[in-house]
Amino acid sequence: MRQFNQFDISDVFNEINDPLFVIESEEIIFFNKFFKKHFQEIPFDWRSSITEKELVASLEEFFKTGIVPKNTFLKKVRPKELSSIKYEWSFTNLPSSYSEKFLIVRGHPLKFQSKAGELLARTREELQQSEEKYRTLVEESTEIIFSLSDTLEFYYISPNVKQFLGYEADEVIGTSFLHYLNPEDLDVFQSYGVEISDFLDENQYLEFRIKHKNGTFRVFSSNGRMVDEHEDKKPFYTGIARDITELKQAQKELFQAKERAEKDSLVKSQFLSMMSHEIRTPMNAVIGLTHLLMEENPREDQLENLKTLKFSAENLMSLINDLLDFSKIDAGKINLEQSQFDLRVLVNRIVHSYSFQAKEKGLKIRTDIDGEIPELLIGDSVRISQIINNLLSNAVKFTDIGQVRTVLQVVKATREFCEIKFSIEDTGIGIPEDKVESIFEAFTQASSDTTRKFGGTGLGLAIVKRLVELHGSEINVSTTLNQGSTFEFTLKFKSVEIKSKDQTEQQDYKEKSLKNVSILVAEDNLINQILIKKFLKNWHIGKLVMASDGQEAIEEFHKTNFDIILLDLQMPILGGLSVAKFIREDLDSGKNQVPILVLSAASHQEIKSEMLELSINDFIEKPFTPEVLYGKITEHLISKDLS
Ligand code: ADP
Repeated sequence: MRQFNQFDISDVFNEINDPLFVIESEEIIFFNKFFKKHFQEIPFDWRSSITEKELVASLEEFFKTGIVPKNTFLKKVRPKELSSIKYEWSFTNLPSSYSEKFLIVRGHPLKFQSKAGELLARTREELQQSEEKYRTLVEESTEIIFSLSDTLEFYYISPNVKQFLGYEADEVIGTSFLHYLNPEDLDVFQSYGVEISDFLDENQYLEFRIKHKNGTFRVFSSNGRMVDEHEDKKPFYTGIARDITELKQAQKELFQAKERAEKDSLVKSQFLSMMSHEIRTPMNAVIGLTHLLMEENPREDQLENLKTLKFSAENLMSLINDLLDFSKIDAGKINLEQSQFDLRVLVNRIVHSYSFQAKEKGLKIRTDIDGEIPELLIGDSVRISQIINNLLSNAVKFTDIGQVRTVLQVVKATREFCEIKFSIEDTGIGIPEDKVESIFEAFTQASSDTTRKFGGTGLGLAIVKRLVELHGSEINVSTTLNQGSTFEFTLKFKSVEIKSKDQTEQQDYKEKSLKNVSILVAEDNLINQILIKKFLKNWHIGKLVMASDGQEAIEEFHKTNFDIILLDLQMPILGGLSVAKFIREDLDSGKNQVPILVLSAASHQEIKSEMLELSINDFIEKPFTPEVLYGKITEHLISKDLS
């Protein structure tokens, strides 16, 4: 203002009937009368009133070079009263004789002569606004927007490249994309050996490492496409790239954690499996010898002790089995068997096995089995027994008065399938509402004094839940405290057409005898040798040859013809599987087909494929009871007269 007063130019400006103001470097130094009268006051600091980015840049440019900005609209410079008149602002510099640079900003009212004119002006303004909107969008985007020439030079890159990679956009434009690429990625890129434009055309999504200005590498993912040549222009590539360094790092850590967890879990299940093998072998002796002692006419008082010993040993065994089973199910190592079985007989037998315990507690134990259930179904009878056993043992354990009822009901039956609902109901202590979910978790019991009062590990229901789920179903419980609980689930089985029943069931009632049978047993463990020998002697075995290792077994196999061979899997010198292989490869077709049964503390599942390959006839899991041993031997001697 001071200088204008000096030259009295302000008088001239005040005469002008349009708004006008004058800018000098950072300040507005003059407003004419018209402006003061008709326009809202604006601060002297022009940067507060003129915020249009492009104009700000032009104004800065003017004060450096003297290049005058183009006409424009100004958003924040508004008339005092609302009016339909819009102002377009023009810029003029004061004559060059002035030493300082001044810019005269003058508003020109746009009086619209026609609708078309008004439309044009509005369109221009909208265009400007939308351009500004998109510029802000690009500049503030979390992605870098770029385009590349067909030789991979940057045509354009959004200014936010600085924020992610430290470079100014101007620095990058014109340089090659390959210049920033991590050398390893560059090799991969070049190893494709195709035209770069073809490569980009075929690969919309890319991941690569780019060098930051500070020398470190950042990981980017990009999405883009080739834009086709039009007229004489060459094709170019446009894309957006996002910095995924942190994401990649998190992914890497997650992957490492997963690997670690898997390794830990493997070690855990290997340990469990090894330990349970180790424990099963001595348990075999404990259970086997108990059975033997019970068969040798003990005194009444000894019988009581033996019963307790047998009960505890069997309990310990089922605990070990539970632990092993749980870790196997957890590791997804259990496959369901598909073989024929009679569900009604199975359930009746299981329920019957609890009748003694129930009677002692004064409980009624009942089954209610739908007569429509087919006699033979296909499924995994071992796993189904495990489910029912666990639920029944809980029901009996947690009920003091009343009854335990097992109900099997057909939900839907076709010729091929039968869907059966299983309910195990009791009138016991019930489960508190807030514990209903957690009882299905491993090692969880509804109340903290459960172990003290009732024993148990809290694994039973976790196994049941997983086994039911393995059948593609789910287990539900409805329960009322002090009134009882009902556990329910529905399983679907394939039904089988009835064939004539075999006679294995009746065998139980016959006296056990192996009179005319010759058996070769290969077993290195001395106690197990004694046990098997005692069992077989009790059944009046015809001829028994004992071998302490695989080598000896093969020698004995050559000397005599046996009706059946029992092989322990883990023996010194030669293991059971190697002996079996040797036997099956013998040239004498009369001898090489002898039934082979293997004895092992491993699970059947673990050696199933080897057994199939070597045509091994059966598997006896250690520890075994005399009944199981006798049953398995006689099953494979069907054609032989045993008595
Ligand atoms: P465990 O019986 O070895 O403790 P489970 O997993 O079989 O383990 O059962 C977990 C808990 O669920 C039990 O400790 C008990 O608190 C509760 N529970 C299971 N079945 C019943 C039932 N029929 N009645 C009452 N409580 C039950």
